[in-house]
Order: sequence, then structure tokens, then C-alpha cells
Amino acid sequence: MIQGSCLCKSVAFKIYKETRKAVICHCTMCQKSNGEFSSYTKTKLSNFKLTQKSSLRWYHSSKNYRRGFCFKCGSSLFFQKIKDAIDIAISTGSLKKNISTIGHIYYQDKKSKLIIGKNLKKFKKSSNGIFDSYLFKIK
Ligand SMILES: [Zn+2]
Repeated sequence: MIQGSCLCKSVAFKIYKETRKAVICHCTMCQKSNGEFSSYTKTKLSNFKLTQKSSLRWYHSSKNYRRGFCFKCGSSLFFQKIKDAIDIAISTGSLKKNISTIGHIYYQDKKSKLIIGKNLKKFKKSSNGIFDSYLFKIK
């Protein structure tokens, strides 16, 4: 099991069994909400449990997706489909364990001049689910 939380620990959660390897997103919305880029893992809702959620709030950042954050400390934590969600993307910075990174998405929007993970797979836009099969097994 992997534990995670926001900065002030008012939002806390656990991930069980497996989760997708981390993907770095350079889209313009992640630039605004997470810094110059974000790093997310993603897991099925059946592998995910919120243990503290009193200060969790959701911002509808686009027509079909929402972003979860802690209103007390401002940590950006989650990214999820609004309707019929079967999984949840989780900011890897919130996790107690390190998860290996598989690649980059929205590389065409990359703002940072930093070169991170040079040899990782890159997609100009979305990976269209290709990264979803790269799973990190949780011991
Ligand atoms: Zn917090």
C-alpha cells in the first residue's frame, strides 16, 4: 500500500495493489495548477481509498475533467473525469513512495527549459491510453 496526503494532511488517501507509472504532463492547465509541469500516477477507483477528505474540493478545469485540491493548504492532488469515472490520477508529489516515471505527455506545450527524463517516451499531446498499461506493482 502507498500512502499519500496534501501538505497539511487534511486530505489523505491510500493506493492498493497497483498504479500506473508516473507520467509528466506539460499541458498549459497543469502549468497553471502544478507549476511548470505535473507528475501523475493513475489508479482504478477500486484500488483507491480517501482516508481524510474534509478539506478536499474540486475545480472543474474543463468540460469533462476536474482537479482535486486541499482548500486549506492549496496542494493540487487529483485529476479525474467528472462523469462515470473509473479511475483517478494522483499527483506523485503527494505520495510517500517514489514511483518510476514512464514518459511525457503534451510535450508540444513544454514550457520549462529543464531537460527531465530525456530518454523517456514522449507524446506531443495525449498518449491516448498507451501509458495505461505500464503498471507499478505495489508490494
Ligand atoms: Zn491540506
